[in-house]
Amino acid sequence: MFFVEVILPLSLAKTFTYRVSESEFNFIKKGMRIAVPFGKSKIYTALAIETHQNEPTLYEAKEIHQILDEKPIATAIQIEHWQWISTYYMCAIGDVFRNAFPSALLLESESVITSTNNADFSVKDLSDDEYLVYEALQKQNVLKIGDIVAIVNKKNVLPLLQKLIDTGVLVLQQEMKEAYKPKLIRYVRLHSQFDSNEGLSILLEMLKNAQKQKEIVLAYFQLSATEKKPITVKKLIEFSQSNTAVVKALIDKQIFEEYYVQHDRVNFSGKINDSALQLSQAQESAFTAIQNSFSEKTVSLLHGVTSSGKTEIYIKLIEEYLSQEKQILFLLPEIAITVQLVNRLQLYFGEKVAVFHSKYSNNERVEVWKQVLHNAEKAQIVIGARSALFLPFSDLGLIIVDEEHEQTFKQSDPAPRYHARDAAVVLANLHQAKVLLGSATPSLESYYNTQLNKYGLVTLSERYNNVRMPEVLLVDLKDKYFRKKMTGHFSDVLLEQITETLSLGEQVILFQNRRGYAPIIECMTCGHVPDCPQCDVSLTFHKFKSQLRCHYCGYSMAKPSHCHQCSSVDLNTKGFGTEQIELEIKNLFPSAKIGRMDQDTTRGKFGYEKIIDEFKNREIDILVGTQMLAKGLDFDNVNLVGIMNADTMLYHPDFRAFERSYQMMTQVAGRAGRFKKQGKVVIQTYNPNHNTIQQVTNHHYLGMYKEQLYDRQIYKYPPYFKLIKLTLKHRDFDKLKEGAMWLYQVMSQTLPMPVLGPEEPAISRIRNEYIRTIMIKIPQNFALGETKKTIQKILNSFDAVAVYRSIKVTTNVDFY
Ligand code: ADP
Ligand code: ZN
Ligand code: ZN
Repeated sequence: MFFVEVILPLSLAKTFTYRVSESEFNFIKKGMRIAVPFGKSKIYTALAIETHQNEPTLYEAKEIHQILDEKPIATAIQIEHWQWISTYYMCAIGDVFRNAFPSALLLESESVITSTNNADFSVKDLSDDEYLVYEALQKQNVLKIGDIVAIVNKKNVLPLLQKLIDTGVLVLQQEMKEAYKPKLIRYVRLHSQFDSNEGLSILLEMLKNAQKQKEIVLAYFQLSATEKKPITVKKLIEFSQSNTAVVKALIDKQIFEEYYVQHDRVNFSGKINDSALQLSQAQESAFTAIQNSFSEKTVSLLHGVTSSGKTEIYIKLIEEYLSQEKQILFLLPEIAITVQLVNRLQLYFGEKVAVFHSKYSNNERVEVWKQVLHNAEKAQIVIGARSALFLPFSDLGLIIVDEEHEQTFKQSDPAPRYHARDAAVVLANLHQAKVLLGSATPSLESYYNTQLNKYGLVTLSERYNNVRMPEVLLVDLKDKYFRKKMTGHFSDVLLEQITETLSLGEQVILFQNRRGYAPIIECMTCGHVPDCPQCDVSLTFHKFKSQLRCHYCGYSMAKPSHCHQCSSVDLNTKGFGTEQIELEIKNLFPSAKIGRMDQDTTRGKFGYEKIIDEFKNREIDILVGTQMLAKGLDFDNVNLVGIMNADTMLYHPDFRAFERSYQMMTQVAGRAGRFKKQGKVVIQTYNPNHNTIQQVTNHHYLGMYKEQLYDRQIYKYPPYFKLIKLTLKHRDFDKLKEGAMWLYQVMSQTLPMPVLGPEEPAISRIRNEYIRTIMIKIPQNFALGETKKTIQKILNSFDAVAVYRSIKVTTNVDFY
């Protein structure tokens, strides 16, 4: 008898055994997909990991439906890496598999299929079965795979559908297809030959008999004197009340030069940069230091201040590995910066750069998957968010983790709850590759690892071009309010700085780490604050939509006209968010163009791209935003950053609050003055003497590091202790309370280490489920694997208690 062992894309810890024929047995290789029946009537795409002849003892092995691949589409290293993730992060191997594979490669009976209607194919080329499916989809918009099984009256429809998806006849539903095309803006400038006084008189001579052209040129002078920024053709025509023909004539005469600004000033044409990148001396020595460190260690941390030119060092390093024909993985925390980075890397590496993240369509993701599998030149450099870690690399040489301190590298829901930075180090070891972590504000964990000599450390402490670090002005809010120097949420100092910056034609970023208009609406008569009916949080007020919204579950209601408790109409807002800042600044600077970047304005498909583009093209003067602004964006004309209120971050109830506040403020501040001159940062706070604020002001990373590390040791937190957080959820409050207590007691009696809880978290109910947490703190150098096994055993016995079985427990290892 012959069997194949497979991983199912379900939250199941075990692998499953299916029966195969002898020829199938000989054909199947590790990493091939196999359609298998599971449960009563479902079909899933599973992954073969082994063939063997051991009949399972606990159940009777079913037969497979069909082998879906001719060759493996996952690699042995990949599967080994998943197994590590599953063990380390205490989750089902099936969870990792499902998370790793693009869903288009994982057809199952519940997948929803729809017709593309625009594929380039001829109906007569379809087989009978293919035609049946095609025809059914002309009548009905979408079909589940289960429906198709009935239509063609065959069980093995997955290969058929896969083929139709591959040829573009069908797609999985909910896909995005368009690729983003940056908007090109047309600018003009005076040809450099007219720069001098002498040139000017030549110019006037040339235009003696062309009155209309002369008018435009004069308008150009006037505009450049007042605006102090590049002049678009559109603006010039509006201002001079002329037309494009006249502008064109001036361009033909070589009086004006036209140029386009796309994303990046480095490149105006969209072509690959042929001039090689010149590293500064400081960059060069950092580059050498990284290479030296790689000769001894797998991981190196590049601690380079904001705008020190880390990206350029990455580019040099990538060149090295490309020349050895290795694959390179570039991990980024956020889609927003991916956009800018892709453009920057494409300037150097052109077609070799591929992008992999969730905003891309399934088909595009499958394409990258296959290119990576075959080590195709087209995807030699892969840029992506954390999930790119799961691609089938065949010859990986280097992983770069940029902004390594970002918490978005940790997946919190659903399982696998892995940290991409740490999982990258493991993946690199499997490939004998190297890892470069980069940040201006490294995580305590990574910096600590350099101090233990586990990771190399390379420091770059000056900005590129020798621009000085931004000057930080602290504003004491208490004093300003007392002396009536506030206009809305703006201090006189901040307003003066904004006025000055705008008058120089430079741009401003205003940071407020909270979206919406105001956090809450409060009744001035009885103090009632409307809460979410499903979660225990107050609703956030959004003025533009005149709504109250829950940021946890998305619940919304129209803004009430009176208090629901006492019917008073005297309602007031408390606190403030980006929306309110945007409105205030619009009133204060009516002629400035204001933009806003937060979750509410970047929701659309290309939300980020649009706002970043507009800001980069200087169509926006003042950009208001949340922490999205703190993530490695590079704008060359921003010279002022205002942090509206530093205190909400500082007093977040979280052991990382000070570290995060330092990182966030330093990163936002780092957007100022990146190109030519020193930038300014205004921090408004009630606590100007707070250590963290002082550390930000003085750019004193090591001060922050040492202080926080000391606290972590005293209070038993990472990096000294590993945290495992158990979260229990149930709709029944009493049952949850009891179950959490049971689990806590067994854990704390069994484990020789601190076990805390069961705690009611700050937000103790979401979507009508009550929540309790238990925190286990495993001392450094304690047998981690054994402890996890013990914890898993206790969790299994908890699950075996009939009354508690319905309580959902999630395990979060290295909780962030
Ligand atoms: P970081 O990632 O360290 O914050 P960047 O790599 O974004 O810094 O560099 C800051 C700015 O300086 C960018 O606009 C970049 O183009 C420019 N820059 C840095 N190094 C160089 C270089 N060697 N040659 C030209 N421009 C550079
Ligand atoms: Zn009231
Ligand atoms: Zn809610």
